[in-house]
Amino acid sequence: MAPRSVLVTGANRGIGLGLVTTLLQNEKIEIIIAACRNPGEAEELKAIKDNRLHLVKLDAICDKSIEAAFKEVEKLVGEKGLNLLINNAGIYVKYPIDEPPKRQELARQFDTNTFGVVVISQIFLPLLRRAAVALGGDDVSVDRSAIVNISSGAGSIGNNDRGSTPVGLLAYRMSKSALNQFGKTLSIDLTGDHILVASFCPGWVQTDMGGQKAELTLEDSMRELVPSILRLQKEHSGGYFNRNLQPIPY
Ligand code: NDP
Repeated sequence: MAPRSVLVTGANRGIGLGLVTTLLQNEKIEIIIAACRNPGEAEELKAIKDNRLHLVKLDAICDKSIEAAFKEVEKLVGEKGLNLLINNAGIYVKYPIDEPPKRQELARQFDTNTFGVVVISQIFLPLLRRAAVALGGDDVSVDRSAIVNISSGAGSIGNNDRGSTPVGLLAYRMSKSALNQFGKTLSIDLTGDHILVASFCPGWVQTDMGGQKAELTLEDSMRELVPSILRLQKEHSGGYFNRNLQPIPY
C-alpha cells in the first residue's frame, strides 16, 4: 500500500525536493503535489517529466496563498481527498542571546516553522478528513490520512545538552519544540478522525540550510526517511522520530 496523494511544502530545493523525487520512485503514489513559493522559478521541479507531479504555489506565511493552494489541490485530488500532507518548508534564523533583542526575528522564525505549519494543517484538514472518510474503517495509517511535520533533533528538549550551540540556534530550537507540541496535540485531537500525525528529524543534511559540512547527503537522508514515512501506522501517531523511525525524546 501507499498513499494515493501526497503534498510536500517547500518542495523546490533541499529536503523538500528530495522528498518529491524519492516519492516519485514509488509507482503506487498517483498524485504528488510539489508546493513552493515560486513554481515558475522551480527549475529542478519543472525538469521532472512525470504526469503524476503537479506544481502548486504556496507560501507558508501567507494565508491567502495557502487558501488558493487548497483550491488547486482540491481539484487535483477530488472526492478521494488528500492522503498525506508533509510540512517541510522551514527557515533558520540565527538568534544569539548576547545580541540586542530582535522581536521581529523571533516572529519570523516562528511564523514559518511553527505558525505556517499550524495554518497549512488547518486549511488542508477538510481534504485530509475527506481522505480518511473515503477509505473508511478503523485503520489509522499513512496510506489513509496523515500529517508529517519535518521537525529537527534541535527541537528536542530532552536531548538538549548543548544550549544554543552552534551559537544562534536558540530561536530555531524553540520553533521546532513548539512544532513538536503541535504535532503531539494534533495527533490526540484528530484521533476520532483517523488522521495520523508524526514529526521527523531528517538528520543533518547537506542542503542550503544544513551546509556542505553536514554528515548526510540528501540521498542518504531520503533513503531512510522516505521508507520510514511510508511505514507509519497507528502506533506511530503522536510520535517524534529520527529518519530510521526511532523515537526521539520530546
Ligand atoms: P533549505 O533552506 O535547503 O530549503 C528550505 C525550503 O523551505 C525551500 O524550499 C524554501 O523555499 C522553503 N521555504 C522557506 N520559507 C518558506 C515559506 N514561507 N513558504 C514556502 N516555502 C518556504 O532547507 P532544508 O531543505 O535543509 O530544510 C527543510 C526542512 O528540514 C526544514 O523544516 C528544516 O528545518 C528541516 N531540517 C533540516 C535539516 C538539515 O540538516 N538540512 C536538519 C533538521 C531539520 P524558497 O526556495 O522559496 O526559499
